[in-house]
Parts: sequence; C-alpha cells; structure tokens
Amino acid sequence: MPRPDYDLAIIGGGINGCGIARDAAGRGLKVLLLEQDDLASATSSWSSKLIHGGLRYLEQFEFRLVREALQEREVLLRIAPHIIHPLGFILPHDAHMRPAWMVRLGLWIYDNLGGRISLPGSRGLMFPDPIFSAALRPEIKRGFFYSDARVDDARLTVLNAVSAAEHGAEIRVRSRVVGGERVDGQWALEVLDTHTGTTSTVRSWGLVNAAGPWVKHVLDDTLAIASDAKVKLVKGSHIVVRRVHDEAHAYILQNDDKRVVFIIPYEGRYSLIGTTDVDVHSLIGTKDITPEETSYLLHAANRFLAKPLQESDIVWSYAGVRPLYDDGADNPSKTTRDYVLKLDCAKGGAPLLSIFGGKITTYRRLAEHALQELASFYPHMKKAWTGREALPGGEIASLDACAQLLQKRFFALPPDYLQALAARHGSRAMQVLDGVNSIGDLGQQFGNGATMLCEREIDFCIREEWARSAEDILWRRSKCGLHMEEAERVRAASFIAHRVRALVV
Ligand SMILES: Cc1cc2nc3c(=O)[nH]c(=O)nc-3n(C[C@H](O)[C@H](O)[C@H](O)COP(=O)(O)OP(=O)(O)OC[C@H]3O[C@@H](n4cnc5c(N)ncnc54)[C@H](O)[C@@H]3O)c2cc1C
Repeated sequence: MPRPDYDLAIIGGGINGCGIARDAAGRGLKVLLLEQDDLASATSSWSSKLIHGGLRYLEQFEFRLVREALQEREVLLRIAPHIIHPLGFILPHDAHMRPAWMVRLGLWIYDNLGGRISLPGSRGLMFPDPIFSAALRPEIKRGFFYSDARVDDARLTVLNAVSAAEHGAEIRVRSRVVGGERVDGQWALEVLDTHTGTTSTVRSWGLVNAAGPWVKHVLDDTLAIASDAKVKLVKGSHIVVRRVHDEAHAYILQNDDKRVVFIIPYEGRYSLIGTTDVDVHSLIGTKDITPEETSYLLHAANRFLAKPLQESDIVWSYAGVRPLYDDGADNPSKTTRDYVLKLDCAKGGAPLLSIFGGKITTYRRLAEHALQELASFYPHMKKAWTGREALPGGEIASLDACAQLLQKRFFALPPDYLQALAARHGSRAMQVLDGVNSIGDLGQQFGNGATMLCEREIDFCIREEWARSAEDILWRRSKCGLHMEEAERVRAASFIAHRVRALVV
C-alpha cells in the first residue's frame, strides 16, 4: 500500500475546517486543507459576527450549547484580543414582550451558566437614559443590559488557517474536491484547481467533510457515501446602515413574531442589522437579501428606533446560509444550533468525519470534539492545545497597547490608520509594515484615513493569507471595500489583480 501524502485532508476552508486544521496540525498530524473558493467565502463571513452564548437558545433548552459557547467566549477573548471584543447589549422591554421575570431569569442563567469571568454582569435599566436608550423611542421606559462579544468572522477563519500553516498544514485555496473514494485503505481525492482547470489526486488516511452548506452534497454526490444525516439550510440576511447611535453598545430587539433582531455598531460609521431565518431547499438564489427580508429587518428595527430607517439608508447587505443539523423542527428559528459529528469508517477503514451545524463561537470546541472522534485512528496524536496559544497577532496585552506600540515605532504614519491596522492584524501589523519609514513606503493607497488600504497590506494578504482576488481583500481580509466609493473599489480591484499576477506563481 503506498504511503498517503497526508494524515488528514479537510474539505472546506470555513471556520470549522480551518479550526480543525489548526488543531490537528498542532497535534502533529500532516494536514491538507482544500477550499474551493476563498477561506471564509461562504457562511463564515456572513454571520452576525457575535461571539455569544445565544440568549435565545435558552428558551429551546439548548443548555449544553449555551454553556459551551459562554465558556468559549472567555477562551476566544483571551486568544484573539485583536479581533474579538466585549460588546454590551441593551434589551428594551415593554409589556407586550416576554415577561420581565422571564428575561431576568434568562439573564441570570446566562450570567452563571458558563462562568462569566471578564465581562460585566447583566442588570435592569430604567429609561430615559442618556447612553443606553439614546436611539430608542421615548415611550420605551425600561430595559436590560447584558454582555457578549463581537468578532471579525472572516479574519478569525483566516487566522486559524495561518496558525494551521505555522504548525505545518498545507492550505490550498481555489481547490475543489470533485470526487473521492477509499482506495487501498486510504482516501484518494480528486481535486480541481478552479484557477487553472487542472485536476490532481491526493491521498490521505483520514478525511473531514467540513463543507458547511455543501456537507450533504459532498457526502452524497462527491464521495457517494450513504448517510441518513440531513442538513437544514436556513438563510439569514443582514443590512448595513449609517450608524443609528454613537454609543458602544448593541441593541437586541424582540420583534412582533417573538424573534430577536440585533442592531450592532459596525466598522465605525455603520450599524449592522440582522438577521432573518428563512428555510431554503437549495443554495440557488440565496446570495442576496430579498425585498421581503429587507422590509422585515427595517420593520423590526423601526418598532424601537426614535428615528425610523428607510430603505434608502441601506448602504450594504449580505446573506448567508446556516448549515444546520436537521433535527426535524418545523420552525427554522427552533432548529438546533448545536453541532453533530458523523463518523463513517465502513469497509476499508479510512475514516470520514462529517460536520453538521455549529456556530462561529463554538468552532474551537467543535474542532476538539472532531479530533476526539478521530483519536483512535491516530494513536500518536498529541493532546488538545488550541485554548492555550494565541491566534496569530493575538500575542498582545490589548488592542490599545498594540496600537500604541505601532505608533511609537511607525510615528510617521497616521495614528488612526495604525489603530485600524492593529484591529485587523494585531502584532502581525509589525510584519505588514516591516521596513516602512514614511507614508510613501506604504506604496499605492486606496480609500483614506483610518480605512485606507495600501499596497503593503495587499501584498501581505496575498503572500501570507492566501488572498487571490479583490473581493478576498476588500471584503474578507479587510472591510475596506465598505468604506470606498465604487470608482475607488474598481481602481483597487485592478491593482489587486495586478499584484496577484505578480506574486502568485
Ligand atoms: C445569518 C447568519 C448569522 C450567524 N451569526 C452567527 C453569530 O453571530 N455567531 C456565531 O457564532 N455563529 C453565527 N452563525 C453561524 C456560523 O456562521 C456558521 O455556523 C459557521 O460559519 C459555519 O462554518 P462552516 O465552516 O461549517 O461552513 P462555511 O463557512 O460555509 O465553510 C464551508 C466551506 O466549504 C467549502 N466547500 C464546499 N464544498 C467544497 C468542495 N467540494 N471542495 C472544497 N471546498 C468546499 C465552501 O466553499 C466553504 O468555504 C451565523 C450564520 C448565519 C448564516
């Protein structure tokens, strides 16, 4: 039997695939990650960007998930302090909502279930309050405060891939698995390079199917493995508007259908409003928000906002599809958000583990559980480690401390730009700016002020973070695209295409 090229191949460069790649590589396995498009190009960049326990999941008695997520909130705040930050939530309350005693009880459980170590506890509030009810209608007289955290979801995914590579994993983007079978007791995978159109075969002992919304397609069609597990596709959309309030907190609003909708301060100048929950039966036509979803979100926000929003206030929107484990619930909001791992090691032995569901928040524990499932196939695999080592760039005391260090070292550059760079790269901003002494050394510049994107960073994202297109850099490695006018985005896109040609052989 030929020796396999890899111990473990992973299909899918979303948060779950990248999290498993990081964990497995650090435990000594030879890992290959195959992503058909860009890292985080699917669900993992279309989330509400919260690291949260999920207050509303308590109503569905998802105590295991909420406890694990709350515990993870603490771990992730520690290992990625550059891209994960505490976020206070205000829950406005009136007589038509869930009773106050129920909210208070829910918040008490939320405060205590996972061990809240670093974040402020929940409390009741009376309105008007100059800070906490700033954007709300004056007739709302009370509310509650509680803590959660926010994350740059796409960067969290990419940084897991960077860490995986630092521990020896090979990361291949634009590489779609188009076929696979067990041959001589190992996996032989057919991989299409979507850039060149060529195919090749790779051999791996074990295989993880972390294809997110495509998990069932990969099982049924690509690998032809019979499985009774089903995925439930639930679309969720967001709108981005000019910032509705200046304060640092977010709002969690109960809509008249009892669902909750968030208004989250976003990228300095904006507010992110979401999400919807729409059952879909295929991925076709799910890339964009529908007019019905837009009206739903505006209606949910306007029930509470003193200054109602109009459709013309929307500057951007996005939509994603949750790949949930189908537990038979008929209401999409009630389908479990917990993850389910399905191991297949039928004849031939070589293991296949498929991932259903999960949250950005719980990806690290999901990866640990995935490797626990596979442990008997890798007797020499080392122990769990990912909760102890900072993600790349996260070796900082705080974001402010990191920005101050940058300002000392690169005093010729604008402080607000350095602050933004620190928020994207943490201590790795030093590598982005290595050798820079003046603003001219940044090379070509696009956009301006804090949200400027420069040639230095573009090259860094191509060389160190597998970026291959303008979209990868303007919308995932950074959100600079959101701050640019269309003409500037076009100019940046043409420059990025030129740099990709120059740097990628
Ligand atoms: C609207 C919405 C809001 C959400 N909000 C939150 C939140 O606030 N907090 C939170 O914790 N979670 C949230 N989630 C959940 C979270 O985003 C997802 O659970 C998570 O991103 C799923 O990650 P994944 O890696 O499983 O899937 P994906 O990110 O979809 O990754 C799967 C990858 O597999 C690749 N792939 C597929 N087939 C192949 C193939 N044949 N070959 C190679 N590659 C392939 C795809 O291109 C894709 O990149 C939200 C989800 C949605 C939709």
